Amino acid sequence: METLTQLKKYSAELVDLHHTLALMQWDQEVRMPRRGAEERAWQFATLSALVHRREVSPELGALLAKAEAQKDGLSVEERALLRVMRRSYDQNSKLPEEFVSEFSRLTSQAQMAWLEAREQSDFAIFQPLLERLVALSRQQAEYLGYPAHPYDALLDLYEEGLTTAKVAEMFAELQAPLVELVKRFAGRLTPLAFAEPFSQPGQEQFAEHLLQAMGFDFSRGCLARSPHPFTTTLGHHDRRITNRYAPRSLDFIFGALHEGGHALYEQGIDARLAHSPLDDGVSLGIHESQSRFWENVVGRSRPFWQRFFPELQQAFPAQFASLGFEDFIRGINAVTPGLIRVDADELTYNLHVLIRFEIEKGLIEGSLEVGALPGIWREKYRQYLGVEVESDADGVLQDIHWSHGSFGYFPTYTIGNLAAAQIWEAYKRYDPGFERTIAEGDLAKIREWQGREIHGHGSIYLPEELLVRVTGAPLAARPFLAYLEEKFSTLAG
Ligand code: ZN
Repeated sequence: METLTQLKKYSAELVDLHHTLALMQWDQEVRMPRRGAEERAWQFATLSALVHRREVSPELGALLAKAEAQKDGLSVEERALLRVMRRSYDQNSKLPEEFVSEFSRLTSQAQMAWLEAREQSDFAIFQPLLERLVALSRQQAEYLGYPAHPYDALLDLYEEGLTTAKVAEMFAELQAPLVELVKRFAGRLTPLAFAEPFSQPGQEQFAEHLLQAMGFDFSRGCLARSPHPFTTTLGHHDRRITNRYAPRSLDFIFGALHEGGHALYEQGIDARLAHSPLDDGVSLGIHESQSRFWENVVGRSRPFWQRFFPELQQAFPAQFASLGFEDFIRGINAVTPGLIRVDADELTYNLHVLIRFEIEKGLIEGSLEVGALPGIWREKYRQYLGVEVESDADGVLQDIHWSHGSFGYFPTYTIGNLAAAQIWEAYKRYDPGFERTIAEGDLAKIREWQGREIHGHGSIYLPEELLVRVTGAPLAARPFLAYLEEKFSTLAG
């Protein structure tokens, strides 16, 4: 078993390198002065190229082949390690080093251009970089290969086995029922509006309080600010999240619950998987199921606020002292077709994702030009959500993903929403007294169940395999649509 020991050592070094890159990324988004961007881009390019060289080395190829030949007698974890390393080795081997380095340098520049473009609400600033990123992503798809559609190659990077056809089928099942639900419930629940601003320290404190209640371990993670909230892993005992704070928005609550859901997943991975490629969530879709579970299924539920509303009132008397509980619950669940994906309610959210899916598919297959995006964006928002896009900042420039070169990422959000509802059904079978559990603030009971069923396994099981183990069925639209129907008809009386 000497081969396996060598392979584990090799993979542990790769994990170190990736966590170092994550630290550079964290710093870039949280703390780096803007003028540091150019040199940081070169640092990313240099380090990414070195990491890539190690990821495709003949030494690693030989070790993998040798270990695979001696598979008998390996544990479930060891087999999973071989599977995960084989997948990443094959993917990386298909990409030339110059490509990896160029892609990394370009995305680093593109993030700064995107920030500036969004600030000035001027797509033209971002357009040339986006054009090059789209061209590189199309090239990437050709390097990687795909079963039927070039976009398949990119989807598979984020959700193993996902294809354009599967995503199209998922949206075909969702679109009509969602449009129908939006029609029924839009405008029937009054959104909250705040005359008095929330102080930033107050927001930070309350967000921390909720994270503590969920069981986020501050000795193994921290909370910071960034323009676009995210969760990242710098080590087995270092899982970080960011949040954003606006004066008159409840983003600080739902952002914290969302990123907290991601972080609980990461912090819940079994210690025996530490320092290995299995010490990671299995896919973006399953990851998003955990964040949406806490943000929406738990975090926008009546029992959750039976527990926390009195504290919210106490923390922010000017905003909540005279607001009734029912108005609050209806307000945080108000259905309002809008322009911004991250602000979208549970009914309209997946229509925002559908628009991005259609656009990305067009960009990658070459049927859509980057220059046409602002216009296409306006058209689709009018058609699917009935809203008028007034500016690029609130339109085509609102998401950071394309500046990261992430095409194929968005559909995992919808997978996460569906999986969250399906996992919720499984949890309710386990804990029929769930409403009381939540209302009494016994959130550890939920976290421990998730830990046993999902988090602890890290990347040992394939996403679909894991979902079947937890819920007894592969991903389906039915539990999500049933959850929405029940929740919103109750809310609207
Ligand atoms: Zn998320």
